[in-house]
Amino acid sequence: MDLLGDLYRTHTCGQLRPDHVGQEVVLLGWVHRVRDMGAVIFLDIRDRYGVTQVVTEAEPLLGQAKKLKTEMVVAVLGQVAPRSPETVNDKLDTGQVEVRIGELRVLNDARRPPFGIADESFVAEDTRLRYRYLDLRRQRMQKNLMLRHRLTMAIRRYFDDLGFLEIETPILTKSTPEGARDYLVPSRVHPGEFFALPQSPQIFKQILMIGGLDRYFQIVKCFRDEDLRADRQPEFTQVDVEISFASQALVFSLIEPLIAEIFTVGGIEITTPFRTMTYAEAMARYGSDKPDLRFGMEIQDLGAVFTDTPFGPVRDALASGGVLRGLVVPGGAKISRAEVDKIVAEAIEMGAGGLLWARQTDKGLATSAKAMGEAALTRALEVSGAGTDGLLVMTAGTEAQVSRLLGALRLSLAKRFNLVDPTKFEFLWVVDFPLLDWAEDEQRWVAMHHPFTAPSDADLPRMTETPGEVTAKAYDLVLNGSEIGGGSIRIHDPEVQRQLFRLLGISDEDAKLRFGFFIDALEYGTPPHGGIALGLDRIVALLAGEPSIRDVIAFPKTAAAVDLMSDAPSTVDARQWKELHLKPLA
Ligand code: ASP
Repeated sequence: MDLLGDLYRTHTCGQLRPDHVGQEVVLLGWVHRVRDMGAVIFLDIRDRYGVTQVVTEAEPLLGQAKKLKTEMVVAVLGQVAPRSPETVNDKLDTGQVEVRIGELRVLNDARRPPFGIADESFVAEDTRLRYRYLDLRRQRMQKNLMLRHRLTMAIRRYFDDLGFLEIETPILTKSTPEGARDYLVPSRVHPGEFFALPQSPQIFKQILMIGGLDRYFQIVKCFRDEDLRADRQPEFTQVDVEISFASQALVFSLIEPLIAEIFTVGGIEITTPFRTMTYAEAMARYGSDKPDLRFGMEIQDLGAVFTDTPFGPVRDALASGGVLRGLVVPGGAKISRAEVDKIVAEAIEMGAGGLLWARQTDKGLATSAKAMGEAALTRALEVSGAGTDGLLVMTAGTEAQVSRLLGALRLSLAKRFNLVDPTKFEFLWVVDFPLLDWAEDEQRWVAMHHPFTAPSDADLPRMTETPGEVTAKAYDLVLNGSEIGGGSIRIHDPEVQRQLFRLLGISDEDAKLRFGFFIDALEYGTPPHGGIALGLDRIVALLAGEPSIRDVIAFPKTAAAVDLMSDAPSTVDARQWKELHLKPLA
């Protein structure tokens, strides 16, 4: 092995161009590819910045170069030369030139990697995560992490220009109330006591407003110990924001240009302001509080067409306060009967009691529900806009059931019939969320957003009588059917805060124990304030064109919440158990 000594890099492997021809240069990097042609050898040398071809045909360098293997770390000293026209590589930024090797130093050996770095071929994700240091060398991860860096820098610049302060908040903290399970850290110094890792800096950022810091942001890790759904991480990154004297309109007016800036950096121009839709409307029209607006297929209420229907299941549902709703599959009049049956089977699999359908064919009306009457069904096809082209599918039940089902069916049908335009970016603010949600299993109210979200001014007086009908000053930012951010205007009146805790079944005593410091703080002159948190991982993934957020996180965990590279979590030795006042499982 040779020494680096005080050799330094004169150029990166992505830098050399024809106007460097004739210069003596030093490149430091990895052997990316070796092309041994016998009497001449070509090497591609790689670093983060690119790839440069180096070449030699003279002994003893030729013999030395022949011993090189991919992923060895080398220093190449040599002179930049133009490539002959036949060997110019237009795909490479440095493809007009090559370096004629004058001296070759091997700085480190490399074991044969378990997968190719240069070829970018498919590698199972487990293998990629286990050898993340090698996966990171591949172009895909390098590109993604460089994009992530550019986006975070743009975010910092944006907020800095507007007078926001980036302030760090603690990682070892008290349980916070985002509604997920906490990660806990046992205290060595205080036997039997635990820190919680923050589910978000929610309370701290509000306290920063009470502390007069006025405008805060932080690019921050949040921790939630949940059973991981497909694309969640136990630790993830938020762009966390809090603003004093904020209205919802002010928050939107500060966040929309930020999003536009982020997307510009990601190479996509978007238009602002974003559309706004109430939660109630989103649920009714799209069966989701995060509707994908890249395609239509809106849910329609058809109850009015069938008020006198003789068809038992629908009649009963409507009579007991339920709804009959449907949606139109465009072009569905022409799909095969087998395809229609598949849609019905899918709806049943999703939990529908049944899915009724109707469409116009060459032979007249075709339907699964003759009992609903030809005249009414024909009218339904008309008012729903199905006409002679679409397939109308309908289901009856409670409003919540029907919304959930048609919302899910809408997404799956859009995918199946290729209705989603992948080049579209449809942003939407969903507003006026309910303040509370009824947890059937626990028979109590839970906060829909989190318990610091303010009720709307108009609904404030109704908080005790009809809490379920109170709307909140909460908002989500939705992009293409994904929630990319959420926030609210907060409660700044300690009495309202106490009242909400009581509604949530948190006794005054319990509230004091868990949030006492915060309620105290509220008593000392709290400015009205509000904020938002954006999911950075998801935004980067969208801009990188990656379906999984794991591909834009340097060291992600698997869906089973383990780090395959370091093999965390892992057990600790007996001394540590003892120090933490814990007993190993028997
Ligand atoms: N802390 C909230 C969350 O993590 C966001 C917010 O209300 O600002 O969802």
